[in-house]
Amino acid sequence: MSSTKRIFLSPPHIGAEELELVREAFASNYIAPLGPMVDAFEKDFAAYTGIPNCLALASGTAAMHLALRELGVGPGDEVLASTLTFIGSVSPATFLGAAPVFIDCDEATWNMDAGLLAEELAECAGRGKLPKAVIPTDLYGQCADYDAIASACAPYDIPVVVDAAEAVGATYKGRHAGAGARAAVFSFNGNKILNTSGGGMLASSDARLAEHARKLSQQAREPFPYYEHAEIGYNYRLSNVLAAIGRGQLRWLEERVRIKRGIFDAYREGLEDVPGISFMPEAPTGRANRWLSVILLDAEEFGAEPEELRLALEAENIEARPVWKPMHLQPVFRGCRVRDGGVSEELFKEGLCLPSGTSLQPADLERVIGAIKRFAAGTGGRRSAPGARHQLAGQA
Ligand SMILES: *Cc1c(COP(=O)(O)O)cnc(C)c1O
Repeated sequence: MSSTKRIFLSPPHIGAEELELVREAFASNYIAPLGPMVDAFEKDFAAYTGIPNCLALASGTAAMHLALRELGVGPGDEVLASTLTFIGSVSPATFLGAAPVFIDCDEATWNMDAGLLAEELAECAGRGKLPKAVIPTDLYGQCADYDAIASACAPYDIPVVVDAAEAVGATYKGRHAGAGARAAVFSFNGNKILNTSGGGMLASSDARLAEHARKLSQQAREPFPYYEHAEIGYNYRLSNVLAAIGRGQLRWLEERVRIKRGIFDAYREGLEDVPGISFMPEAPTGRANRWLSVILLDAEEFGAEPEELRLALEAENIEARPVWKPMHLQPVFRGCRVRDGGVSEELFKEGLCLPSGTSLQPADLERVIGAIKRFAAGTGGRRSAPGARHQLAGQA
């Protein structure tokens, strides 16, 4: 078994065009955190997303940090964030001394539940302490219900920062992910759909916000010939070399979305008949990029827990991963407030992310689907005695 090629969850996929652009960056000698490739990448990204002001940064987490700082988030403040997300969505609030308050997701999008958000905001208003920002995550490349979230925030005039880190190429009602929000954050980390090995983008319709964030990202230099500083900034710019990779990746992003969606469809077709398996829904409001293909297992019907399936796949050198563990269950956020509807905990318990790399070959997909089906057949479906499951799984 160890001789079979490992199938990774979401490995990098780099084409020839990327290398050509990196060569160009080398030839220009801008081996620096500024340069023509960074400028061009920002322009290309603005054109692709329709969000006019884009700032290329070292990571998605850095982009969120700058966005929240621009919105005046500071010590003692609160921000309302999706609980079903990756920590990079939330840790920047704590960098600034603010406290996250977690909002559960809905079943239709797996993203921030606008009803729960409205309830929390009403209670915040009642206490006389409104949050400084609302941070919905576009989970696994599916946009949150932006209109419903905007409606909940509008009476209190609270800005929305979309964590679209996973959602490059996704759309909501015809707009690109993050468009229309006060700010949006994207990630180009190695496992994301657009990969610069590491990087991120802060995008905003607000030119002043973006320009000041640009200044803060470069150590907050004042416009003097010598180094003059009137405020504290960061060293957060993206390397010119990595921006070249980003430009190349962006050129075939639509193709990548198409491939990711095809992978999801292949899993759905291949596994539809397996009892107890269901799939991450796609809301009618948009096009998900299907960054990761996610299934849910009804343990009773399927005959095993997701963790048992994960281990069985691992034994066949196939990488799968649990759904994000909700932030309100993280030890580091013990004591943080949560408006919980039980959905994210359920998704964490039942969910499994399957290999979704754009370089997956049809034979790889068949291997994954075959392994899941064999495992499912071995569990015997609806079982009465929990003990029998292990025995059967062992035989598979
Ligand atoms: C990847 C990710 C981030 C952080 O991006 P980095 O570029 O890794 O800092 C933030 N939020 C979500 C939801 C992510 O998936």
